[in-house]
Amino acid sequence: MSDTNCIFCKIIHGEIPSTKVYEDDLVYAFRDISPAAPEHILIVPKEHICCANELEQKHEALVGHIILTAAKIAKDLGFADDGYRIINNCGENAGQTVFHLHFHLLAGSEFTNLV
Ligand code: 5GP
Ligand code: ZN
Repeated sequence: MSDTNCIFCKIIHGEIPSTKVYEDDLVYAFRDISPAAPEHILIVPKEHICCANELEQKHEALVGHIILTAAKIAKDLGFADDGYRIINNCGENAGQTVFHLHFHLLAGSEFTNLV
């Protein structure tokens, strides 16, 4: 359920400080320490899952919940109507650096450099 060496597990358990944006039984959302946009929030499942490659059928509802949570946060923080981007990096070529599944929620500027 949790990995003692994982930085995001430590954040979820309050062992490393973070700026919390949202939390419920399944997910924890907090501001990225090195924002790539004016709004840069990470949404992570409380269960330690390394990456999209490790997702199973049983996680289907959890992943749906993460996306719905991203949309809720965008509305709650007032940038939903301006637009936002949700990104998941899986593995080395994608640039994943923290191996606890997470979705980036980015907003506050136009993103023209990616797909
Ligand atoms: P990845 O490249 O794995 O998709 O994204 C990992 C993200 O986690 C990066 O944007 C990085 O800035 C963020 N990050 C890494 N360590 C910490 C931390 O200790 N606290 C917070 N809030 N964000 C972190
Ligand atoms: Zn973890």
